[in-house]
Amino acid sequence: MVSAQVRQQVRTFFQFRCGYCGVSEAEYGASLTIDHYQPVSRGGSDDSENLVYCCHACNEFKSDYWNPDSSQRILNPRHDDMSFHLRENDNAELEGLTETGIFHLTRLQLNRSALLLQRQIRRRQQQWEARMLAVEARLATAEAQLARQRRRQRRSRRN
Ligand SMILES: [Zn+2]
Repeated sequence: MVSAQVRQQVRTFFQFRCGYCGVSEAEYGASLTIDHYQPVSRGGSDDSENLVYCCHACNEFKSDYWNPDSSQRILNPRHDDMSFHLRENDNAELEGLTETGIFHLTRLQLNRSALLLQRQIRRRQQQWEARMLAVEARLATAEAQLARQRRRQRRSRRN
């Protein structure tokens, strides 16, 4: 049984996001669950080192699969470098870069339609934010130019 204190530690460690698919509590609309990376049924413990903050979908797809010494294993979000195994393509789909990456994303169905949509939305938001920053920078430059012009005009009127 995982104590409330350990649960909170794991939740904070994973920054309120699923360790496998990255969905946040805010996006999910509820708190997530605790996954035993090494399933209890396969000898996994309640040590925080074995715990992953996890959405219910990933938890279900992962189930009690355990094959740590094979290339057909689930990546450990605490220790594996995800960017070595997975990449996001231009359509916001995840692609496996290694045999393990391919197995991992297939097993956890990390291209399920809701996740894909969410990654696309996140991408669009980032593009909008970048555009907004660029517009704000141009506006600040234009305002500064305008202020300089007004000062020049005031000076020339006084002379
Ligand atoms: Zn998930």
